[in-house]
Amino acid sequence: MKTQSSHSRRNFIKTSALAAAGAINLVALDWNGAVAAGTGLRESNFSGDDGAFKLAALPYAYNALEPFIDAKTMEVHYSKHHQGYVDKLNAAIEKSPELKGRSLEALLANIEQLPEGTRNAVRNQGGGHWNHTFFWQVIGPKAEQQPSGKLKDAMIAKWESFDKFKEEFSKAGMGVFGSGWVWMVTDNNGKLSIVTTPNQDNTLMDISKDKGKPVLGIDVWEHAYYLKHQNKRADYLADIWNVVNWKKVAELYG
Ligand code: MN
Repeated sequence: MKTQSSHSRRNFIKTSALAAAGAINLVALDWNGAVAAGTGLRESNFSGDDGAFKLAALPYAYNALEPFIDAKTMEVHYSKHHQGYVDKLNAAIEKSPELKGRSLEALLANIEQLPEGTRNAVRNQGGGHWNHTFFWQVIGPKAEQQPSGKLKDAMIAKWESFDKFKEEFSKAGMGVFGSGWVWMVTDNNGKLSIVTTPNQDNTLMDISKDKGKPVLGIDVWEHAYYLKHQNKRADYLADIWNVVNWKKVAELYG
């Protein structure tokens, strides 16, 4: 009797797990009501061949953004903070094996569908992994100082001038209370806007109030600037324009 009962229980657990796994039907990235063609970052930026999430190499040296972002900040930010998001995300996925092998962007677009015990970890740690991977790409050394091409035209159409855009973007960044991000995002028609997200949320997430494909994202967590700029986020946001990689931003805009 006892054996049979524990056997049924095992079967029940197995069936429930399968049912739960089947219920997770991750939809493709979808913003502004239409499915668009991805974000421009490849899955290999986020995970290795074994399917586990990984920290991709930083595309430049820790000191490459001096004097605007100091080497120590870059080292701690990349090797401690970002690595921490990756490690905790992998730990969370270990607890929900049915999510193994899913792309990071598919997970982020379906936060609401995720098992309750994993949902917050994927939101925070997975968001942290995506956001920082993106951030390292849109900043860089010896950056072009101005946007160009189609991106420039779209920015002028929206904000009238590059200076006006910078002013609005910095203002939005200053308006983030506590930790978060300030973004320039595009909709499927190429229309740009400036939005902010709290913590490690981003505009790819189904739960985000504002949706869009990020083309520029700046980290305004204190850990991004405190060693050099201390409490002066405005100084950090003024310095950041010296390291925005406008070539990459234009490429992401398409
Ligand atoms: Mn950060």
